[in-house]
Amino acid sequence: MTNVTNLETNETIEISETIQDYLSLIYVMERDGEPVIGSRLAELLGVKPPTVTATLKRMVRDDLITMDENGTHLTDQGWAASKVVMRRHMLMEWMMQKTLPWSKLHSEAHHLEHAISAMAESALMEQLGRPQTCPHGNPLPGCESAVENWVPLLDLAVGEIATIRRIHELAEENTDLLGYLEKNLVIPGVQMEVMEILPFNQTVTISVGEKPVTLGNAVAKYIFVEQI
Ligand SMILES: [Zn+2]
Ligand SMILES: [Zn+2]
Repeated sequence: MTNVTNLETNETIEISETIQDYLSLIYVMERDGEPVIGSRLAELLGVKPPTVTATLKRMVRDDLITMDENGTHLTDQGWAASKVVMRRHMLMEWMMQKTLPWSKLHSEAHHLEHAISAMAESALMEQLGRPQTCPHGNPLPGCESAVENWVPLLDLAVGEIATIRRIHELAEENTDLLGYLEKNLVIPGVQMEVMEILPFNQTVTISVGEKPVTLGNAVAKYIFVEQI
């Protein structure tokens, strides 16, 4: 459970771990201007669509989201709560960074993020030197400008060189994918060059430290780089 204060009534509400998981995904979709679609949530969370529908109804009841002809959107209270969840998650990733491989940080932080108090959160924030992004390069809430100059890998042409900066939150959900990226050094801070783009094959091949790595566009769309 995480306590979040209702902005209108000033009451503190408790949010279950399940709803915190929904909040963080809905936050990312809303922040990026993507429609919040139940079937997409079901796929990302690994649950059945009727389960998602039932949980979204609870979130409407708790004044975290609205659902109407304009789609599904966070309320002010929903935004406030999801920012807390995201920030705690990202701080937990940094906390585990010296202990675990990069590809395991997200799933481990996912367990820990629900247990941290507001006091521990602010102490950790200071101790970590107020990071602007998580170890995957995703922005902490309010730090979006830190990532705005990074471009999608898919925007690059053959021969262009760039530094990998960010693996999008929605790709963090896939542990096998993170393991593959880590094994091939497709991680933030590493320099790469675009070797080959095959639109008919939906692939892009990059070289990382002389080694070619072929990525499907479905994966490459989640990778952002800083052009050199
Ligand atoms: Zn994460
Ligand atoms: Zn992360």
